Amino acid sequence: MTLLEGSIGVEDLVLLEPLEQESLIKNLQLRYENREIYTYIGNVLVSVNPYQQLPIYGPEFIARYWDHTFYELKPHVYALANVAYQSLRDQDQDQCILITGESGAGKTEASKLVMTYVAAVCGEGERVNSVKEQLLQSNPVLEAFGNAKTIRNNNSSRFGKYMDIEFDFKGSPLGGVITNYLLEKSRVVKHFEGERNFHIFYQLLAGADPQLLKALKLERDTDGYAYLNPGASRVDGMDDTANFKTLQSAMTVIGFSKEEIRQVLEVVALVLKLGNVELADEFQANGIPASGIRDGRGIQEIGEMVGLNSVELERALCSRTVETAKEKVVTALNVVQAQYARDALAKNVYSRLFNWLVNRINESIEVGTGEKRKVMGVLDIYGFEILEGIPWVKVDYFDNGIICNLIEHNQQGILAMLDEECLRPGVVSDSTFLAKLNQVFSKHGHYESKVTQNAQHQYDHSMGLSCFRICHYAGKVTYNVNSFIDKNNDLLFRDLSQAMWKAQHPLLRSLFPEGDPKQASLKRPPTAGVQFKGSVAILMKNLYSKKPNYIRCIKPNEHQQRGEFSSELVAVQARYLGLLENVRVRRAGYAYRQTYESFLERYRLLSRSTWPRWDGGDREGVEKVLGELSVSSEELAFGKTKIFIRSPKTLFYLEDQRRLRI
Ligand code: ADP
Ligand code: MG
Repeated sequence: MTLLEGSIGVEDLVLLEPLEQESLIKNLQLRYENREIYTYIGNVLVSVNPYQQLPIYGPEFIARYWDHTFYELKPHVYALANVAYQSLRDQDQDQCILITGESGAGKTEASKLVMTYVAAVCGEGERVNSVKEQLLQSNPVLEAFGNAKTIRNNNSSRFGKYMDIEFDFKGSPLGGVITNYLLEKSRVVKHFEGERNFHIFYQLLAGADPQLLKALKLERDTDGYAYLNPGASRVDGMDDTANFKTLQSAMTVIGFSKEEIRQVLEVVALVLKLGNVELADEFQANGIPASGIRDGRGIQEIGEMVGLNSVELERALCSRTVETAKEKVVTALNVVQAQYARDALAKNVYSRLFNWLVNRINESIEVGTGEKRKVMGVLDIYGFEILEGIPWVKVDYFDNGIICNLIEHNQQGILAMLDEECLRPGVVSDSTFLAKLNQVFSKHGHYESKVTQNAQHQYDHSMGLSCFRICHYAGKVTYNVNSFIDKNNDLLFRDLSQAMWKAQHPLLRSLFPEGDPKQASLKRPPTAGVQFKGSVAILMKNLYSKKPNYIRCIKPNEHQQRGEFSSELVAVQARYLGLLENVRVRRAGYAYRQTYESFLERYRLLSRSTWPRWDGGDREGVEKVLGELSVSSEELAFGKTKIFIRSPKTLFYLEDQRRLRI
């Protein structure tokens, strides 16, 4: 079978003629409109989100792709998964699947399809099947706690995920390790209108049976909760009740005990209730503002549920103890500060619960030490391409070191400055942070803001006052400093971690080990920026040791609509993903390309069908010649007017054959 048989447009962009941005987009569009969402660039898979269930998945398709090599069938995520798995198994080469694209482009769906494919083909047996089940069931759990409806994606992952799946020498799965990155914990206390908090809150309220709801002292109606935006509780096509059942059974399959599940849900309920704790102004005898809890019922319920003295909890929320070498000073927090403390507590409880869940899942799926394993890593992380750490296209004309320095430089980079500002909560704000950036980077060639523009008498009205912009190689990216400080800062007053540690609730207290007076060190926890930098460095090292396989996801429109293809929107992403450069690089990778006519002229003597006489078309003639010589289809690509041959080896072979005949 040839590549182009019955295909719509070209199936491999390497074959595109003429090769330009416009024809590339047109080709994707033509294919998309014919429900062909996958296209290759050599061995890179481009995937355009169909926003509908296509009949191209499932056991029958898995079997078909399992039986064929990469270029034999239509482009498919299964084909990519197949190549990765087979080379892992047969060539003993660790693999990674790197999935990139913007929010809503289909990264998470692609990662699940890869996992399903690999699970389906990697062996059978009771033990193997139970490992597979556990690996697959980690998805609904992480999605319930880590995904949310945003304006761009009803099921948007609000954390980055990297999963290593480990296999024995035969290619049977042994288990895995999940690493999570940067949960968007600010969502717990605040999210845009029309967006939702994490799914679990709605799943719990909708799906819990009346007894559970009563035991947790929760109301079914989501409108009663301050941390849940009113009027946005339902998502089209999403069944929170059913998903809650799925979640519970997934947790059971993974190995969570009934008791563990209950404790997890209690912690979720605690977060919801914290949001309803209303704080009010109070004044101390000397007239200095302080704060107190307006209605004690909520805090009472929290105390009862997790075994905490509610008076103590109130004290921890409304005051702050500063310890010096000699003494302890307790200061009252005003209402704004106390609200900040309450929200910080809610965010911390939730994000620590999330980390705990990931660790707990890992405990179940972890592989014991001992035998040597083969590893397939799957990376699903938004904005990963911004890190520019993966040299999948070499960009000679752009010195990325300048940008890395701007962001990461030890003392004077944007991240370092953000950390420095976070050391002074209350004194600084997002706007003072921006002012500082403007001052330090006013002359930096890759930094822009309204202020630096004004200084240069340039006016770009698309940029807001609270924004700065960095010129990355793929284009300019505008960052809004709103809540930068908050998002980076993990600051939780010690009073609160100590209070949590005193809870009788085993799970809750285990989330706050630093609350143990014996453990208390004065060191503050690393900020999000620092943590992320460290974990990215480890990730990079891990990825570099593996053979990369790329999936580039594209979002065809802003409305999550099937069949709608906005060329402008796709063009932006294609540029950002560097698709055109990628095609050029791949093309250069083909040792040889020539029109069918001249190829046939030179080599037609190699086939009895085409020599001494051939009356058919040029392309058919070329196919005859190559078919008779049994040149592997992986070596070839058939363009509209040209034949492409991948390796010089094949070309030398053809030349040798020719020399033998003349
Ligand atoms: P991302 O992870 O890139 O933000 P998702 O993978 O969550 O995007 O995809 C967003 C939504 O698009 C999914 O919830 C699903 O409805 C739809 N979608 C994505 N990929 C596919 C696919 N291959 N087939 C059907 N629907 C898809
Ligand atoms: Mg996602």
